[in-house]
Amino acid sequence: MITRRSASELAKMRRSGQVVADVLRQVTEKVQPGATTWDLEETADAVIRQHAATSAFRGYHGFPCVLCASVNEQVIHGIPSRKRVLKAGEIVSLDCGVVLNGYYADHATTVVVGASDQVPAPVQKLMRVTQQALVDGIEQARVGNRLGDICHAVQQRAEGEGFSVVREFVGHGIGTHLHEDPQVPNYGEPGKGVKLREGMVLAIEPMLNQGAAGVQLLSDGWTAVTADGGASAHFEHTVAITKEGPWILTQP
Ligand code: MG
Ligand code: MG
Repeated sequence: MITRRSASELAKMRRSGQVVADVLRQVTEKVQPGATTWDLEETADAVIRQHAATSAFRGYHGFPCVLCASVNEQVIHGIPSRKRVLKAGEIVSLDCGVVLNGYYADHATTVVVGASDQVPAPVQKLMRVTQQALVDGIEQARVGNRLGDICHAVQQRAEGEGFSVVREFVGHGIGTHLHEDPQVPNYGEPGKGVKLREGMVLAIEPMLNQGAAGVQLLSDGWTAVTADGGASAHFEHTVAITKEGPWILTQP
């Protein structure tokens, strides 16, 4: 069942979205060679507290942290660790969800460690295209379109630029729970699926791989990595569908 949100609910979700945007802004500032992914977790935890919000991730099916930090070939759900020291030329995907006053927001970005030119050019392109795929998907989040229009736009951008789309993980509705109906795959057919209506809120989150689409789960039970070891990037916004067009609740 897809729940549509009233204007006052969207206003609350906007506040949650601004919290998580601030978390990722401050965590991104801490991404530098020599930092550990645990340092990023501590920053995220502190910022969530400053806003008197609560992590949507810690304790979710037993996930131990407030932040997912997924480095290089890690696709999503990387667990922050004191042992994982970031090195120049790596990329790290940062994913965070919060709940404030009962309403959730979910947001992810992928950033470089050190200077951009230390990252191999194909990986820089992977990041650019994944972000553009998110923009393309959001552009379709309009009253009267169908869910498949979003999914197809993401897939078309990804595959048109030579990258592959992760199938095992998908975007989702969001509101008073972190994950609600509908599922939002990063692949699909235009004109198919449910009709998009005012008040629907979707977490749109392309995950693109440099090589093949396949992923594997590490023995920690959480971290998803590319099967071929190629790099992966992830961008996510929480987006409300309004009469005026897509409203990106997690945009600062
Ligand atoms: Mg997320
Ligand atoms: Mg999500």
